[in-house]
Amino acid sequence: MALDPKATKTEKPRPHLTEEFCKGCGRCVTACPKHCIELGDHIDPRSGLTPVTLDLEACSGCGLCFDACPEPFGLHPNDVEYEWEMSDPKEHFGPRPESSGPVADFIPDRKIPLPGDLQPLLIKGTYASAIGALVAGCRHFYGYPITPSTEGAELMAKVLPKLGGVFVQACSEVATVNHMYGAGGAGVRTMTFTSSPGLSLMLEGISYMVGAEVPGVFVNIMRGGPGLGNIGPAQSDIALVCRSLGHGNSHAITLAPADPQEMLDLTILAFDLAFHYRNPVVVLGDGYLGQVTGKVKLPDHLIEPGLPAWAVYGDEAHRRNLISSIELGEADLEQHNYAIQAKYNLMADREQRFDAFQCDDAEVLLVAANTPARMTKAAVQALRNHGVKAGLYRPVTLWPFPIDGLKPLLPKARRLVVVEASLGQLENELRLALSHAGVNHPDIEHVHHTGGVLPQIDEIVQAVLAEEAVG
Ligand code: SF4
Ligand code: SF4
Repeated sequence: MALDPKATKTEKPRPHLTEEFCKGCGRCVTACPKHCIELGDHIDPRSGLTPVTLDLEACSGCGLCFDACPEPFGLHPNDVEYEWEMSDPKEHFGPRPESSGPVADFIPDRKIPLPGDLQPLLIKGTYASAIGALVAGCRHFYGYPITPSTEGAELMAKVLPKLGGVFVQACSEVATVNHMYGAGGAGVRTMTFTSSPGLSLMLEGISYMVGAEVPGVFVNIMRGGPGLGNIGPAQSDIALVCRSLGHGNSHAITLAPADPQEMLDLTILAFDLAFHYRNPVVVLGDGYLGQVTGKVKLPDHLIEPGLPAWAVYGDEAHRRNLISSIELGEADLEQHNYAIQAKYNLMADREQRFDAFQCDDAEVLLVAANTPARMTKAAVQALRNHGVKAGLYRPVTLWPFPIDGLKPLLPKARRLVVVEASLGQLENELRLALSHAGVNHPDIEHVHHTGGVLPQIDEIVQAVLAEEAVG
């Protein structure tokens, strides 16, 4: 608050504190050059906060403390009279409406049919994912641009305002995830697009969302790392997403699309799963998949989201709800973690997804996900032409790893070859799943690249044929 420039030295106003509006932030303490203000030591029962104390003997009336105070009715000049009074909102707006029956704290989703004659779209993967989110009822997008994911956010920026939605370019990835925490906590469908370094910055907030059981969809278009690396396609975040999703006991279902159609389909699925389990879901694409164009068919309906009973929505029905990831008691946090673990176990039992291509009689099983799976599929065709009984086992969920679909294929398999655009991150997920399942399996071979280089069809074929020739 600025001082009146016409005030003389003797007229300079001294500070006055309305204690119930002081939050004890201490900005005025720092601002005062005369050390007239100290942090308080008693709690004001009206606010529950600790106001500062004033000793104005040395006060020069400089006014710096008024300017420092962020509270409109906190610290102010003593010659200023504010016209305000604390009053019950009921006096202004009448009593809060009483519920006349069961409170509608749960509003179910509605399916709205789409015309059956819609032509397929020819669009890139990030656009397909954005359209999938819109079809799934997402109207709250928060994000920070990062190549090669930005086009998804751009499309949302164009479309969401026209649909009455919210698009916020946040000031950082940290802000992004915390906006999502708030929106998801209110029970609305929220998402972001990001790429590897951006996801790293979001991990703390994702961990909060997991702890507070808040849904949200993270579409991560992986690029080459470590560090800023490059913007080439990679599978550099598999370990990060599957094993290190924030501190503590954090997991999220991780979906790995292989073409633009799956970018759309799996983004829709991601919203279903996020709300079903009250947990974040990650759609893990790679830089090539984000940019490549493909034919994409829309579903036969879109979703008008309802409102879950647990939402902190701010209306009467949801007023008593609480979203928090804090459990200060050790025993309470242990119980909370057991409950979350039970949820993870359910996900592992029910949500394993995979695609098996020519696997029924396969003696050489190739395992690949995302764009490398497309090269591997072509390699399987070529190997079959060479008389090799090859098949592609493609995990669609990277977490939980779909071990149950792989187990029946292992007795016939002589060889197990992992093809990936990272130095063993997918292979490690496979090894861990095999180890937990306790099944016998052939030695694991690999064809892999990193740094934005993708495995090529001929290379995969030659790697398989080389060992077949030796055998
Ligand atoms: S008016 Fe100036 S001297 Fe007086 S309490 Fe405020 S900051 Fe300190
Ligand atoms: S700046 Fe204002 S709110 Fe903060 S401690 Fe001082 S009087 Fe209180």
